[in-house]
Amino acid sequence: MEAKHDVLIVGAGCAGMRAAIEAFDAGADVALLSKIHPVRSHSGAAEGGINAALGNASEDDPETHAFDTVKGSDYLGDQDAIQILCDEAPGDVYQLEHWGAVFSRTEDGRIAQRPFGAAGAPRTAYAADITGHVLVHVLYEQVMKREIPAYEEYFAWKLVMNDDRCQGVIAWDLLKGGLKSIGAKTVILATGGAGRLYVGTTNAYSCTGDGMALALDVGVPLKDMEMMQFHPTTLAPTGVLITEGCRGEGAYLLNSENDRFLKRYAPNAMELASRDVISRAEQTEIDEGRGVDGNVLLDLRHLGPDRILERLHGTRELSMTFAGVDPIYEPIPVRPGAHYHMGGVDTDVWGLTNVEGLYAAGECACVSVHGANRLGGNALMETITYGKRAGRHAAEWALANTTVEVPPSTEADAQRELKQLLARTQGERPWKIRDELAQTMHENFGVFRREDQMDRQGEIVAALRERFERVVVEDKGHVFNNDLTQALELGFLLELAQCMVVAGIARKESRGAHARPSDFPDRDDEHYMKHTLVMLDDDGRPELEWRDVTVTKWQPQERKY
Ligand SMILES: Cc1cc2nc3c(=O)[nH]c(=O)nc-3n(C[C@H](O)[C@H](O)[C@H](O)COP(=O)(O)OP(=O)(O)OC[C@H]3O[C@@H](n4cnc5c(N)ncnc54)[C@H](O)[C@@H]3O)c2cc1C
Repeated sequence: MEAKHDVLIVGAGCAGMRAAIEAFDAGADVALLSKIHPVRSHSGAAEGGINAALGNASEDDPETHAFDTVKGSDYLGDQDAIQILCDEAPGDVYQLEHWGAVFSRTEDGRIAQRPFGAAGAPRTAYAADITGHVLVHVLYEQVMKREIPAYEEYFAWKLVMNDDRCQGVIAWDLLKGGLKSIGAKTVILATGGAGRLYVGTTNAYSCTGDGMALALDVGVPLKDMEMMQFHPTTLAPTGVLITEGCRGEGAYLLNSENDRFLKRYAPNAMELASRDVISRAEQTEIDEGRGVDGNVLLDLRHLGPDRILERLHGTRELSMTFAGVDPIYEPIPVRPGAHYHMGGVDTDVWGLTNVEGLYAAGECACVSVHGANRLGGNALMETITYGKRAGRHAAEWALANTTVEVPPSTEADAQRELKQLLARTQGERPWKIRDELAQTMHENFGVFRREDQMDRQGEIVAALRERFERVVVEDKGHVFNNDLTQALELGFLLELAQCMVVAGIARKESRGAHARPSDFPDRDDEHYMKHTLVMLDDDGRPELEWRDVTVTKWQPQERKY
């Protein structure tokens, strides 16, 4: 074993860095490990903002925030976890402000808050439309100030299990090559989302669900994996995100007939209905022939150049660069794209999994605060509040427990497996399998789901997994071998896809992101107000279990906007 820590955090986005700061301040020896430089994590791409009931723009309180989140989750979110998020959010946002986050301001100098979808009050604090960028840099400064070491450009490939405890990570050194074992009393997975399962996604290339698959492999269930959120405004043709902040500022959604079609789907909230509702409305318009080249149009023109330049300058640049459209003069072509995984590693409200010493936080975890549909602005808040909580709990546990050991056999097994993979000279390149996976997930497990398509997708994923057994890594080198890491990532993606399909077929209702209009158009609280939990059996096949949703004070109601 080459190194040892009390707390090792895999992933250095908002969740990982916030966890590291908390664990360090609790007195633990902490290290971060990340396959990319921390500030390049996908958190840095977040635009619209972060939700906390500060009550600056109008009356608001954590209770209202919690109710909006419960309703937004289509009653699949655990209400105890949601209450914790909403209660701790204001303090956690002020903490970020005190560390130097340059939030946009109201006239009288308080943190400005914009309206976001399905929120009962303007609740989303923001730094223009680069909120994630600002947060990542503020957190990185705090990490550097504490001199928390980071294994930068290390790819976590396996978790080390010893004595029924997670005791570290085996990682591939991207810069120099070679495997490195790092022992740790506790490991926190903070590896983000898995949007790369889909061809049209807002997610960065690094969002391949690695941590979810690592947890699954050591016996942790993945929860609510069928719940992939489609964001209604992703730019055609790239899938780059156009922030919900545009609609928060008053943008319209139009079809080919210049009609604000949402009046037929969400007559009260209109463009500020929740994401699942708007994505379905858009897809219906497109499917029924009222789209424009497979898109609908997001119109900002009436906001005027001053407001666009002041509050949405990043959006304007993205539109001009990637679609050749200046939103001051023309509407932006948008369509639904895979954006956020509500599901993930099953944890309790301290981020702890069913494996001693193993935690998860941020998008890779499922506590669950988002249930079947996440509200815009709640993901960044979750990374901060639950990153903090996981960091604290992991540090306290580590400080109370002593030994840690990476058994030599674990290292030897990993070396052998890697050698075998690199020794193969004949076979298929990973990208082909990856492209087929992403294309078919989009077709068969997208905004709308049908039993026959999900069945077919199950067969497709099984066939792709077989082909993956013979995948060939052509680059045998040691320095920045992306061919190798992309093959490992593909293995993770295929495992997750299989879990998603199994859970999707089993949920015979429509709830949040899981919409089955042709066979089960309604929500069925009697049978399905339950989380799906997928584990692997001894032969590596997925097994499904159900767990009741935690309800504290909000009984399910019909969800209308
Ligand atoms: C374009 C875009 C805009 C968004 N806008 C908003 C918004 O305005 N408001 C909001 O609330 N939410 C928003 N979201 C969602 C939110 O930003 C993310 O859910 C959140 O930032 C995820 O943070 P994280 O820390 O969990 O993961 P990430 O920031 O994705 O970080 C993951 C980390 O894990 C590391 N990692 C992954 N795999 C490995 C491995 N195998 N080995 C080593 N390291 C690994 C990566 O290097 C990285 O450091 C947006 C998402 C996108 C894609």
